[in-house]
Amino acid sequence: MVGTPKVEAARSALNALNPEVEVVALKTRLGSADAGGLVSQADLVLDCTDNCATRHLLNRACVEHRKPLVSGAAIRFDGQVMVFDLRKPDSPCYSCLFPENGEVEEVQCSVMGVFAPLTGVVGAVQAMEALKLLAQVGESLSGKLLLLDAKKADWRTLRVKKDPACPVCATSRDSAAAR
Ligand SMILES: [Zn+2]
Repeated sequence: MVGTPKVEAARSALNALNPEVEVVALKTRLGSADAGGLVSQADLVLDCTDNCATRHLLNRACVEHRKPLVSGAAIRFDGQVMVFDLRKPDSPCYSCLFPENGEVEEVQCSVMGVFAPLTGVVGAVQAMEALKLLAQVGESLSGKLLLLDAKKADWRTLRVKKDPACPVCATSRDSAAAR
């Protein structure tokens, strides 16, 4: 659906799959003013965005409102999926892993490109983890980073720990405890 706004294309596709699902499509750039309001109404947040600013904005809102965050990314032949179950006090957040002021250069898919099937794989794993968290089934990827090297067909899982000096989740927990 080239030429159609992404949110409209997504809504049409979802309604075609299941007409009973109510899709609220918001065609707007997420700002810090409305991120908290939207996240507070959600049971769970899936981050499928393609830029660092929005990823950190969503992470901050999820930390503040203690919502599980299922984050996915794909670039070239590399995919990654992370779950931050921020309902748990010992859970790391996105910023523990990728600090907001980090040296990580923003690499956008529009510039670097992505192996098309990889976005489907990463999206399906995110959907799987989201459904498990919502249904409270099994063990989630919380506290782990799942890496897929599509070229080598290699999956790896790394443990991720909460950074006690993380300015996003450490500060928020302290201020919450002090209240
Ligand atoms: Zn953190």
